[in-house]
Amino acid sequence: MKHYEYFSTLLPQIVGEKEGPVAPEIVPSAAFAYASAQEAEAIFAGETSKPLYARMGNPTGMKLEKVLAKMEGGFGAVVTSSGMGAISMAMTAFCDRGDRVLCIGGFFGGTYALMNETLPRFGIQPHFCDVDDLSGIENFLREGIKVVLLESVGNPSLKLPDIRRIGLLCDEYGALFIVDNTLTPLIVAPFRMGADLVVYSTTKIISGHSAALGGAVVYRGLKEEKDKLLERKFSAVHPLLQKGKGALGAILKKRSMRDFGMSANAFASFLTLLGIETLPMRTRRVNESVKKVVDILHDSGVDVRHPSLHAHEHHLRYEALFEDGCGPLFTIECRSKERAFAFLNASKLLTQSAQVGDNRTLGLHMASTIYRDFEALDRKLLGVTDGMVRISVGLESPMALAEDLIGAWKTIMHL
Ligand SMILES: *Cc1c(COP(=O)(O)O)cnc(C)c1O
Repeated sequence: MKHYEYFSTLLPQIVGEKEGPVAPEIVPSAAFAYASAQEAEAIFAGETSKPLYARMGNPTGMKLEKVLAKMEGGFGAVVTSSGMGAISMAMTAFCDRGDRVLCIGGFFGGTYALMNETLPRFGIQPHFCDVDDLSGIENFLREGIKVVLLESVGNPSLKLPDIRRIGLLCDEYGALFIVDNTLTPLIVAPFRMGADLVVYSTTKIISGHSAALGGAVVYRGLKEEKDKLLERKFSAVHPLLQKGKGALGAILKKRSMRDFGMSANAFASFLTLLGIETLPMRTRRVNESVKKVVDILHDSGVDVRHPSLHAHEHHLRYEALFEDGCGPLFTIECRSKERAFAFLNASKLLTQSAQVGDNRTLGLHMASTIYRDFEALDRKLLGVTDGMVRISVGLESPMALAEDLIGAWKTIMHL
């Protein structure tokens, strides 16, 4: 648990100021004035880090960017209007018409739609692979995939990819490796596993309070030599590599945010900073609660699915890589839509919401909501069954929660 002690110290210390206002300042201005024509030129050239115009970043967001970069061990970060904004920014900054991208494992519904429906409209071709199909992954990479995207923990399938091995393959074949770490901040450290970019929906666990929509892309520093971005397939971003170590940030902003405008607003960044201070405590509590609740439900005969259970296909990987847990989610298999609806409506504690990682425990029937627009085959690929209910554990007493869910389960036994 040394790890949580480190973050429990780091995050409150870097969010608060030691002089003047302790809480982060909200700077709502959309425009910024420059002291002189010379300063304006320096700001536009990126030689001074003062704010240019809020579409390109504002001081409250810049504070959040510093905190996220430090937390993740990255070189810098760019905060966005939402998690989808972050993923869209990363994809559109680095991809061009004709590029092929590889999507590994199951995905959040919005991400799947972006990759499968929207980016193809702009000539970017997606391919999909299961997390365990390493030879398939390698074959795709050999054929010249430019970007690889995966989620640290499959939502809602809870499949656990071997991020380190996939990271090594991406390095070998020079593909940009993007990890969506939304469900496992502080738990998974993607930069240590070969990630080039780490994306977050900060709307979820990082905030915890469901009061602020937001996202972020954290990026690594450009390597002085042999950086994969120097390869020919990345020639479209080569002019920006002269920005040096922070080049990936310049690519994100100048090739996407400037033109698409998925910029964060100051108030959302402020609320996100309030959430992030307590992230280590919340993470530890939620991980412990998930373990307790899953065990109690399992022992009580509820059809609960989680990698901590022997029956889960990635149980061994869970034991090896996730000693403290893998975030707030587990699923309950109710075997039909009717039974799932009855289960959800019988619970008194669950808040039915499409959100995850909230301080309250949330529940949702997957097939009729987030995944309703997908074909049956796509749902199967994403691991979504007709009776699947997703639970996102909050800060309540795990005992009270287990009792409530067992009570709800009992009401559907006869259905
Ligand atoms: C919610 C979510 C997103 C999208 O984030 P928004 O802030 O809702 O746009 C992306 N990835 C994962 C894993 C998510 O859970």
